[in-house]
Amino acid sequence: MRIGMNEGAIVVWENNHIRRYPNLRNIGLVIRDRECINQQEYEELKSPPPLELPIKSSKIICLAKNYPAHAKEMGVEPENLPPHPDLFLKPQSALIGPGENIIFPPQAQQVDHEVELAVVISKKGKNISVEDSFDFIFGYTILLDMTARDIQALAKKKGRPWFPSKGFDTFSPIGPVIVTSDEIKYPQNLDLELSINGQIKQKGNTKDMIFSIERIISYCSSITTLEEGDLIATGTPAGVGPVQKGDKISATIESIGTLEVGVI
Ligand code: MG
Repeated sequence: MRIGMNEGAIVVWENNHIRRYPNLRNIGLVIRDRECINQQEYEELKSPPPLELPIKSSKIICLAKNYPAHAKEMGVEPENLPPHPDLFLKPQSALIGPGENIIFPPQAQQVDHEVELAVVISKKGKNISVEDSFDFIFGYTILLDMTARDIQALAKKKGRPWFPSKGFDTFSPIGPVIVTSDEIKYPQNLDLELSINGQIKQKGNTKDMIFSIERIISYCSSITTLEEGDLIATGTPAGVGPVQKGDKISATIESIGTLEVGVI
């Protein structure tokens, strides 16, 4: 099943049937009791519509250094990796959809791309066990964890929070769709790739994550209550680097699709 947004409604298409739901919060109920839209709407929506609006989530939790090769390129040796996932938050206001533009902030000298598999949470959960964590996954999408690297480097040096470097408006493009968990049974072996203007910059596979998705969900829920629609970005593989105004970014994750955004 694949999910997109159309005119503010969640659109689900599966086996040539398209259904619309007013918002993500209803999905848990409607998945068991689906209702088709009419034929005319179906014809209009035959091809997967773009995720035009961000989903509603109360928070976007991100992991730092969850792929050994990326940790190394950031100067972190294996013996200095944290014993549990290193977390930070991005605000809702950073979300944009496919075809939109990342705005290069005037305060930044260098803005880097980071392609990441994002988990969409299905229901409220606190202190979720590793064994139960897959029950809390609604689906998967692509998230770009855009980062003002010079601002982050200064923050690291001075021991200040990362938030300003990660939290700018437009710094969390997502999409092009949410693929529900029934379509991706084993998310721990998906190829990820990011290219700029057709040139490949990042290439990786989710099997290389240091902390598995189950452990990430369990750990996050030990700190904060997870809510339906929350996003967890699971870290980026190696190859992060700067983007420039005018660039076209294309990010692909196997079994999900390709997210395309610009930089202005
Ligand atoms: Mg990241």
